[in-house]
Amino acid sequence: MAHSITLIPGDGIGYEVSLAAARCVEATGVDIRWDNVLAGQDAMDKTGQLLPQEALDSIKKNKVALKGPITTPVGTGFRSVNVAIRQALELFACVRPAKSYPGVKSRFKDIDLVIIRENSEDLYSGIEFEEGKPETASLIERISKDTGKKIRPDSGISIKPISKFASERIVRFAFDYALENRRKKVTCVHKANIMKFTDGLFLHTAREVAREFSGRIEFEDTIVDNMSMQLVQKPHKYDVLVLPNLYGDILSDLCAGLIGGLGVAPGANIGKEMAVFEAVHGSAPKYKGKNKADPTAMILSGVLMLRHIRENKAADILEEAVARVIAEGKSVTYDLKPDPLDPSAVGTSGMADAIIEKIKEIK
Ligand code: NAD
Repeated sequence: MAHSITLIPGDGIGYEVSLAAARCVEATGVDIRWDNVLAGQDAMDKTGQLLPQEALDSIKKNKVALKGPITTPVGTGFRSVNVAIRQALELFACVRPAKSYPGVKSRFKDIDLVIIRENSEDLYSGIEFEEGKPETASLIERISKDTGKKIRPDSGISIKPISKFASERIVRFAFDYALENRRKKVTCVHKANIMKFTDGLFLHTAREVAREFSGRIEFEDTIVDNMSMQLVQKPHKYDVLVLPNLYGDILSDLCAGLIGGLGVAPGANIGKEMAVFEAVHGSAPKYKGKNKADPTAMILSGVLMLRHIRENKAADILEEAVARVIAEGKSVTYDLKPDPLDPSAVGTSGMADAIIEKIKEIK
C-alpha cells in the first residue's frame, strides 16, 4: 500500500532541496503518495497565511511529513513557522544525528553522535515582555516584591519554562532511542549550576529516568559550556546527547560543523503520533533559485523518514547511495568539493541525479 506523506517544500532553497529529496526517496522504489502543501512565504503570497490550516491538517491526516526550510519573517507576529509547526503538532523531540561520511571536508572523521533536543518549551515558548510596556513594568515590580531582586526598568524579559513533564518525556525518549538504536550512553547537557529551578529540574529528572535504564545505558551529565569545548576537542567521547531546547539548537549547529557543515546535517521532529523530517539548515535565501544548495541534508532527512515508516531496506539503499556519491566526490555540490570554487561542482539537481543513478546500481 502507498504511504501518504505530506510534502512541504518550504521557501528559499526549500523547493530545490525538497524536490531533490522527494525524487531520491521515490527512486528507492517505495510507493509514496505525496500530499503537497504550502507553508512559508509562498503560502503567504497565495493564501495570506504563513502557516495555512491545510498544512497542519495534512500532517495530522498523514502523520508523516517531509519539510523544506522556511524563512522566519522579520517584523510579523510569527516568531517562526518552524517552531509553530512543532508546537501545534506537539513534536516534542528533535532528533539530529551528526554522522561523518568519508569524502566530506571536516576536521574530524568517524563522528557518530545524536542530538535529542527538547522542542516544546524553554526560551522558545514565546512568552516575552517587551521593554517599556506596562505589563513588563508590572512584572518587574512583581518580581522585585516577591524575590527582592531588582531588574532594570528598561529591560525586556523572556520566560524560560522547563517542566518536569516535558523533561521526563524527552529524557525517556532519549533513552528509548538509545536502546532501539544500540547506543551505549546518554549525556544530559544543562546549566543546572546557575539555573537551579529550570535546568536543575531537567537534570534532576534526567537522573531519575536514568536509574530505570541503569545497567543497560550509561548516563552522565555535563554543563553546556564545558560540553561545547569537549565536543570540539573530543567529539568521539559522545553518543546520545539530550538537551533543553536552546542548548539543543546551538549545539546542533556545532555538531553539524563537526561533520562538514549544515549542507549534510539531517533532522526529525517527532511527537507521539506525528513526525516531520527536515534538515537542520534554514532557507539560505542567498542561494534561492540558483540550483546551488547541497541537497544532502534533506535527502538524509528522507533516509530518517524511510526508517520511521519502517522502510529500512530503502533507507539503507538511499543512505549508501548518498555515501558513495560523496565518497567519489565527482557529482557533488560546491560545499563538498575541496575547493568550493571548483568549476566541476554540480548543482542541487545534478547531485540528486547522481544519487538516483547510484540507487539503481545498488538495487
Ligand atoms: P541557513 O541555514 O539558512 O544558512 C546559513 C548558511 O549555511 C548559508 O548562508 C549557507 O552558506 C549555508 N547553508 C545552509 N544550507 C545549505 C545547503 N543546503 N547547502 C549549502 N550551504 C548551505 O541559516 P540562516 O541564514 O541563519 O537562516 C535563513 C533563514 O532560515 C532564516 O529566516 C531562519 O530563521 C530560517 N531557518 C529555518 C529553519 C527551518 O526551516 N527549520 C532552520 C534554521 C533557520
